[in-house]
Amino acid sequence: MDLGAYWRRWTDWVLTTDKRQRIRLAMAGLAALLMVCCLVVMNAVAAAGLTDAGHVRVWTVCSVIGLILVYVAIRSGWSRRFKDPSLTLPQILYSIACCAVAFVIAGPARGVTLPILAIILMFGIFGLTTRQMLGILLYGLVVFGTASVAVAWRDEPGYPPVVAGAYVGMVVVVLLSSTFLTTRVQSTREHLRRQKAELARALEQIRELATHDDLTGLLNRRAMLERMHQEQRRSQRTGHPLLIAQLDIDHFKVVNDTHGHAVGDRVLQAFANTVRYSVRETDLLARWGGEEFVLMLCDTPAEEACALLERVRRAVEAMQVHDSRSPEPLAVTVSAGLACHRAGEPLEHTLECADRALYAAKAQGRNRLVAHLDP
Ligand code: GH3
Ligand code: MG
Ligand code: MG
Repeated sequence: MDLGAYWRRWTDWVLTTDKRQRIRLAMAGLAALLMVCCLVVMNAVAAAGLTDAGHVRVWTVCSVIGLILVYVAIRSGWSRRFKDPSLTLPQILYSIACCAVAFVIAGPARGVTLPILAIILMFGIFGLTTRQMLGILLYGLVVFGTASVAVAWRDEPGYPPVVAGAYVGMVVVVLLSSTFLTTRVQSTREHLRRQKAELARALEQIRELATHDDLTGLLNRRAMLERMHQEQRRSQRTGHPLLIAQLDIDHFKVVNDTHGHAVGDRVLQAFANTVRYSVRETDLLARWGGEEFVLMLCDTPAEEACALLERVRRAVEAMQVHDSRSPEPLAVTVSAGLACHRAGEPLEHTLECADRALYAAKAQGRNRLVAHLDP
């Protein structure tokens, strides 16, 4: 096995193969690295005899136990039961406490705890809510306030009150600025979330406009052709019949000429609804253009398809559209041409056959179905 494979196996074991878990553990690892840096500095200070080595040892053990517990809680999946499985808040609270203890026992190296506190808080800026960050602000003030009192109580030589005051001031500045930054990040995230939702809605609208006819709400020609090609592939695989019918409203031009375009539009809408409710949910109806419609019948035997189209024809015949300017309700009829798709032939050929059958229905006097089912 090469080195890369060993490395992958090792990282898979340490970070798991679950993408989300890997991110959580990698973030916890980053925080642990920071803590390790702090441990190195503290132990170096203790080794140089600048601070109490016993205190540093106890602090080191407690910090390492904390790191291990966090790793085990996330790695084992135990933390998944919480809203934030990364355990961001407990990690930050524990790190701040460790940092505050380090502040007390670090002696002259106390300064290193300030940038570390700032980095710990950075982890919260992206993962915590403003309320949580305000809680951390209060917690930080209490913990570091206590730490400052402890430092003052220890009364270390060479640590004048002005320096102690400066440290406390810097701790407050770090805590306040990270709370402010969290508020900014949160409002930006909220803004992005809203924009994303709006974009998703707009995309859905565009998709609807691109695939549906405005007037009738039916699929448009392009979307129907796409669905037909899908069904063609499926019918080829399964051997189930695929039938296509062309429907055309009879003498529709007369409707427009007599009652006006607006009434014509209402007739088209009523026609679309009548046909839609006369067929099964699995049958697909599309507006092919003008007053022409296409119906695709999947898994339907030819005799059933003829009966269904006869039902459609009668439903359209019975349909009534009211024109306020005319006392009589308006009625239309439909002619239909039915063709069966043969495996291996192009769809365009089936559509042509259906069109020829429709032409024959018109020629035979309209308001009828002509089926072109022979090969
Ligand atoms: P046939 O029985 O032979 O089909 O005769 P027809 O009058 O239905 O056919 P023709 O092709 O002569 O006329 C179709 C009419 O459909 C002409 C056109 O103005 C009308 N039309 C097409 N699209 C629309 C539309 O969206 N709304 C309205 N109101 N009319 C439309
Ligand atoms: Mg027509
Ligand atoms: Mg026509």
